[in-house]
Amino acid sequence: MLDPQANLTDYDKIYQTFDWKEVEQVFSWSKTGKINMVYETIDRHVEEGRGENVALLYTDGERTESYTFAALSTLSNRFAQGLVSLGVTKGERVFIFMPRSPELIVAMLGIIRIGAIAGPLFEAFMEEAVKDRLADSGAVAVVTTPHLLSRIPVSSLPELKHVILVGANESHGLKPGEARYETLMDQSNEPIIEWVERDHGMLLHYTSGSTGKPKGVLQVHEAMIHQYVSGKYVYDLKPGDIYWCTADPGWVTGTSAGMWAPWLNGVTIVMRGGRFKPADWFKTLEQFKVNVWFSAPTAFRMLMGEGNQLPKQFDLSSVRHVLSAGEPLNPEVIRWGLEVLGLRIHDNWWMTETGSTICANYRSLPIRPGSMGKPLPGIGLAIVDDEGNELPANTMGNLAIRAPWPAMMRQIWKNPTKYQEYFKNGWYISGDSAYKDEDGYFWFEGRVDDVINTAGERVGPFEVESKLLEHPAVAEAGVIGVPDPVRGQIIKAFITLRAGYEPSEELIEDIKFYVKQKLAAHAAPRLVEFRDKIPKTRSGKIMRRVLKAWELGLPTGDLSTMED
Ligand code: ATP
Ligand code: MG
Repeated sequence: MLDPQANLTDYDKIYQTFDWKEVEQVFSWSKTGKINMVYETIDRHVEEGRGENVALLYTDGERTESYTFAALSTLSNRFAQGLVSLGVTKGERVFIFMPRSPELIVAMLGIIRIGAIAGPLFEAFMEEAVKDRLADSGAVAVVTTPHLLSRIPVSSLPELKHVILVGANESHGLKPGEARYETLMDQSNEPIIEWVERDHGMLLHYTSGSTGKPKGVLQVHEAMIHQYVSGKYVYDLKPGDIYWCTADPGWVTGTSAGMWAPWLNGVTIVMRGGRFKPADWFKTLEQFKVNVWFSAPTAFRMLMGEGNQLPKQFDLSSVRHVLSAGEPLNPEVIRWGLEVLGLRIHDNWWMTETGSTICANYRSLPIRPGSMGKPLPGIGLAIVDDEGNELPANTMGNLAIRAPWPAMMRQIWKNPTKYQEYFKNGWYISGDSAYKDEDGYFWFEGRVDDVINTAGERVGPFEVESKLLEHPAVAEAGVIGVPDPVRGQIIKAFITLRAGYEPSEELIEDIKFYVKQKLAAHAAPRLVEFRDKIPKTRSGKIMRRVLKAWELGLPTGDLSTMED
């Protein structure tokens, strides 16, 4: 039986004896067969006498609110009843397009409570991106705000029957199909829960669009056994913890690591609304006495850009564990974490498609700086060739997962061909390239499509970007391979400069020399171009495919997830 208090003290032993069936015993549905994520994350705590524990601490600077598990249970029951009154049924897609707020959370829980599929969309999406996703998913309803309504082209979405408006004032005349969130919440507070099959659809997450058109990834209720384990072993969540995952629920990190993993472990989550401001973020850590903090390299880099004086103005002593996912974690960022928090940031690797953490650095295992650590217990991770044959240690190849695992996606929405393409010879092929050392640690090289082949040498862009970041003039860097008749490809770096630096030929030479000296001659960029901005996804990932398209004069493809 899985000991709920167990720390991952003996990784090897736990890894070898781990059995998902045992984790299932933690949940009553292993006996009853009745499963629903909202029951396990919210209602169960109420039934078992933990209803008055705080589930959510919210602030956006103006509103600061606290919700118990009992309160979220009641509110989400009300919203669920509201959806039922509109005729929304099990399996239908209901989208949420609104800023981070308690209402967003209530809506998400209400949707999943009735067995419908929630589709959270990041609030910064523009009309085209919103339309693509609502049309692709065949959403029947969307929960939004009056402000964002103008970006929903209702008349060109024939399947969309209901628009639920949060915070519409009295003067807002309701059009046909529109309903007020506040009115729906007033109808009934009868508890309601739809018991579903373990592989019933729960969430439809669109991927970040770093490599192409975003894919609609379907996640299911039984993903909870995986998310529970990630929460325990990777995020190191303990009863009584205050936990802040900064990701927006529009991305998988924001739901899987932001809501499910902590609540399954009975932990309080923090949500910060409003725009990113470094001082506000440090303030949030201080104000709520956050114990475990989960963010992304892009956010850490932005905080780092503020210098080391700002964090000194806050009491950050409550933080005991820091995590990062979404992109490779630059050594420079790890150094910053040690300096500012006195803590090592723990990198963990996963994808929208994997539904939860797959490979991680654990608190109890020694960290090899630059490595993504070791697979989660219960996960078979390997390096395979293009045919799906396992490769020996220290050989670069496709990072692959033995299929299936509990949080694995079960569909690419309406695209079975695309879904099948992920699997080969019993392996899920991630699209990332990596190797495993002789002690079982995994090392990320880059996305397969981004790896550069120059004069017979493989170079991962991340390695070059990380080295560039250590140069005092460089604020951010994106690195690609450019075709070259002699070398196959040569390395080109796009760079934004820190304040106080001006582009010049001397600086270009200095930067090239720096990488040559500190990394390797073959990995030094032969071409350097200064830019005001590096193209990034709204979740903060460098879009190298856009840099390549610009460089080669090719079509840029889907830009719906690109930052302004
Ligand atoms: P799309 O699939 O639409 O092109 P995306 O792959 O960026 O976009 P996500 O599912 O959000 O969409 O991101 C998963 C990818 O993020 C991984 O395949 C990997 O390249 C990268 N990634 C995530 N975590 C890490 C990590 N810890 N280290 C290195 N890379 C990471
Ligand atoms: Mg991807």
